[in-house]
Amino acid sequence: MTMRYVQEFRDGAAAQVLAHRIERASSRPVNLMEVCGTHTVSIFRHGVRGLLPPPVNLLSGPGCPVCVTTNADIDKAIALAGQNGVTLATFGDMMKVPGSYQSLQQAKADGADVRVVYSARDSVRLARDNSQRSLIFFAVGFETTAPTIAAALLEAEQLGLTNFYIFSVHKLVPPAMIALLESREVRIDGFICPGHVSVVIGSQPYEPIARRYGVPCVISGFEPLDVLQGIEMLLRQIGEGRSEVEIQYSRGVRPEGNPLARELMYRVFEERDADWRGLGCIPGSGLKLRPQYRAFDAEEAFAVKPPPTKEHRGCLCGDVLRGVITPPQCPLFAKACTPEKPIGPCMVSSEGTCAGWYQYGSSS
Ligand code: SF4
Repeated sequence: MTMRYVQEFRDGAAAQVLAHRIERASSRPVNLMEVCGTHTVSIFRHGVRGLLPPPVNLLSGPGCPVCVTTNADIDKAIALAGQNGVTLATFGDMMKVPGSYQSLQQAKADGADVRVVYSARDSVRLARDNSQRSLIFFAVGFETTAPTIAAALLEAEQLGLTNFYIFSVHKLVPPAMIALLESREVRIDGFICPGHVSVVIGSQPYEPIARRYGVPCVISGFEPLDVLQGIEMLLRQIGEGRSEVEIQYSRGVRPEGNPLARELMYRVFEERDADWRGLGCIPGSGLKLRPQYRAFDAEEAFAVKPPPTKEHRGCLCGDVLRGVITPPQCPLFAKACTPEKPIGPCMVSSEGTCAGWYQYGSSS
């Protein structure tokens, strides 16, 4: 099925054709996991679940960068924002996410100078225009945003800024997928691999998942027909006993990814172990600034001691992010926890699984 224009990727008749193909290709119960917040939203918004036969179960994994950021890291960001002369800038999605005691939004209401920016470059401009203050950019995201953060840091260096810092909690997606498989907590028969992340990293980083763990991977686009076609490709692999990395999203992803973006990312960052909400510490899954950029590292420049971390009582976001439960299985879902009064990040973020279930319901 060849599609070119966005309307074609949302065509109802074509979706039905794909749904029939999926039904024919579905031979046994399977769990397919998407690891991308944009996929999660698309699946809910377009009612993809409702088009699938009962044996095909979709699980949402740790694909929302805001959701996987730990309380400890949010607490540290709040502590950094509370330093004299500091302005902390971050993306809007992070503002409402509760840390152990409060969110950045609450810290701002209490007097901390916290700003929402639309890009890392905006935070460089803020630093340039407010040279008497220290500007810390709270960098949350996956491989998709890391190259843009790297470019912003290089711009700050070129401008000679000495008041620009980065607090990086950036994470890498493939190590988290492997951690999920290693834990054997949930059976995963196939991965719908993230599109935007794969634009940068290409298909190679998923090869160990397909070869070593025998789990088929399909890099899919975000329109409903992309997702359905990606599911059909996974079911074909499963039916034929293959486990390979295939690219459904060929209009956006090349097997080699974007080498320039990766070069930029690794010029500035190096890998480190990182803590994920729900998954704990995953080796080599985070990005920290290389030693030559230490002067820009907020963790080096500001010694903060946040209060002891605590988790939100009763919130099962960690289980949701591992695909162990669906949001309605959390006792707080749609009762104590709603998008208006969220208790955990999965209900706050527009890409959060709990927010998706709340808005669109289980039939989506
Ligand atoms: Fe956490 Fe709320 Fe989701 Fe429950 S419904 S897991 S409390 S975000």
